[in-house]
Amino acid sequence: MKIKKLITTIAIGVGLVAPIFNVNHTQVVEAASINSIAKQNSYVGETFLYQMLQTQNIKYNKFYAKGNKIKYRKGTPEGIVIHETATPGASAYNEAIYFNREWMNMYSYVHAFVDSKQVIQMMTPNYGVWGAGAIANNRFIQIELCRENTRNKFAKSVNNDAIYAAKLLHRYDITPVNASNTGKGTIWSHHAVSRFLGGTNHTDPDGYFQKWGYSMNDFFSLLKYYYDMQAAETSNTTVPDNNVGTSDPVVSDSNTDSDPDPVSQAPTGNKTLMHDAYTYDAQGNRTTAALKTAGTVVTVAQEKVINGKKYLQIGENEYVVASNIVGTKRILTHNAYIYDTTGIRSDNAKLLRGTSVRTYGGRINIGGKMYYPIDTNRFVKAANFK
Ligand SMILES: [Zn+2]
Repeated sequence: MKIKKLITTIAIGVGLVAPIFNVNHTQVVEAASINSIAKQNSYVGETFLYQMLQTQNIKYNKFYAKGNKIKYRKGTPEGIVIHETATPGASAYNEAIYFNREWMNMYSYVHAFVDSKQVIQMMTPNYGVWGAGAIANNRFIQIELCRENTRNKFAKSVNNDAIYAAKLLHRYDITPVNASNTGKGTIWSHHAVSRFLGGTNHTDPDGYFQKWGYSMNDFFSLLKYYYDMQAAETSNTTVPDNNVGTSDPVVSDSNTDSDPDPVSQAPTGNKTLMHDAYTYDAQGNRTTAALKTAGTVVTVAQEKVINGKKYLQIGENEYVVASNIVGTKRILTHNAYIYDTTGIRSDNAKLLRGTSVRTYGGRINIGGKMYYPIDTNRFVKAANFK
């Protein structure tokens, strides 16, 4: 509450201070306005993945269970790596669901996904993740910013990113120092990790920031602004640990291992169509109802086999082919890149040959090539399964 009030007060002040950014450099002027738009928004707060999944009856695939705890080399995190997902159209919610389901196949995991509406913390930052190569992974907390398609939403999303990151700095007693240009400091872009530490070759979030006339330096100044504000706010009290979910709640290890393939059981309740789907009647004849697009949530009553094919009942006399929701596991015979709905390769993950991947519904044609959907907005070339 108090923070909100302060933000408003300072946001009003920004208009008066703005001319100091007015040097002979277009980009700086643009960026200043992104930060000033950002500061007009209040923080969305953190959503914890395990809680979000509980409410939807989805299994939390705990990343740091058992033999998979990545311990920081100094015991606690030394800084934060700022990423960008490079997946247009995928919200923090989409990314969180996807990574929870597939991290073990993709060899990739991060601490949080952030967009204009949500900060979803995937797991406690007390342990490392697989986000930026072997050198960075046991040093830094890693946060992914999701793509937005308007300037306002972009500003909102970096605002959430900066406030969340600033809170983490306080929690782990880390001083913000911009490492993006020098390789020395606590706030890193993934690009800076590639340049100065190695073990990875990605250049995010620079390209995406540039599209909005924004840069890591601008982001750092926003982060520093909130870090200082939070320091002033809490000078008399310490930030309570549960602010950012220090300890994820007890999720017993046995929970995560007991059910090897929960998705393949007949699903009931609210489910998301992962592939565009026609509806059929109880005899398996296609109805005249409009095509339901991938991403639509339907309520599944039961599974039913019609003419030897599995369907799920979603209405009184309405069925969809089960594979559009539960998918089919296929083994990759080649390493495979992941593509978006326009056939552009997403650079944040590669699926390795030999892994089992769940695909949904039939193959689809994107730009003349055939793909299988592996999520509502991610696709793998069908040829990789032959
Ligand atoms: Zn990255």
